Amino acid sequence: MVVYESERVRRLIGRLDRGQELPTAFEDLARERDASAGWIRALGAFERVELCEYDQKARVYRPARKLDWPCEILSLEGNLSMKEGEPFAHLHATVSREVDGKVEVVGGHLVSGTVFACEFAVEIYDDVHLVREEDAATGLSLWEGSERAAPATTASGAEGVTWAQVADVSGGVASAAAPPAAHVPRRRRGPKGGGKLPPVPSPDPLPQRRRMSEEEFLETRHPERGDFIDHRQFGVCRVEGEDAEGGLRIRLPSGVRKVIRLDFLEVLAPYEDGGRRVYPVRPGRKR
Ligand code: ZN
Repeated sequence: MVVYESERVRRLIGRLDRGQELPTAFEDLARERDASAGWIRALGAFERVELCEYDQKARVYRPARKLDWPCEILSLEGNLSMKEGEPFAHLHATVSREVDGKVEVVGGHLVSGTVFACEFAVEIYDDVHLVREEDAATGLSLWEGSERAAPATTASGAEGVTWAQVADVSGGVASAAAPPAAHVPRRRRGPKGGGKLPPVPSPDPLPQRRRMSEEEFLETRHPERGDFIDHRQFGVCRVEGEDAEGGLRIRLPSGVRKVIRLDFLEVLAPYEDGGRRVYPVRPGRKR
């Protein structure tokens, strides 16, 4: 099981225009609203739609049913996450049409649909970052929950360091890189409990890390201007400072600037990389 906990939710409510295409319209919306995790509900009507089903045995999607006629969207449900570095909308739909006084209802995994009208609500979970990766048990691309290194296909792959490598060096670097004792982090963690990713059985257990006191932990894990963070999705990003609300201003390898909240990320002990102090961060920690 993979479970994340969200305490920070934005809700969008709106409608799509006639002629807009699904799932693209929701992926564009996710990109525009900077959403990497969300849930979609909608109703309305399609001018046409393609639905299909996953063949669990053959591990392929069966050929889509092309419904080239107007139909009602009785329900459309789906979610938003990241796949290969881009927003990805996974949608299922139940649709109906009336033929000779009888109502036909079909449903399935939505391949594509042209909207006639569509009213939607989207919940965006700002403190969750969902990433799809190949799942060996199903052949599907599912939300990954492993704490181990992401494969080289993710955005951070090019400059990546495995989690095992990070753990290897974290004991030594943590104390060397610790800021002066007078340094007081601006935000302190609340009581711990819950919110962490569930443990995943690993064939290569991580090496033992040096245990740190709570105080030492708080002092250490605070990237500052000039440091770098190693974000699984964004890559190795330069820290440019903090914004007024305490968000961390970062610059991605692509040059794009973003503000991320550290409150909902776990900041691991830093490692040195060519004179740079790099803090690996990962999602899912509740403070
Ligand atoms: Zn599906």
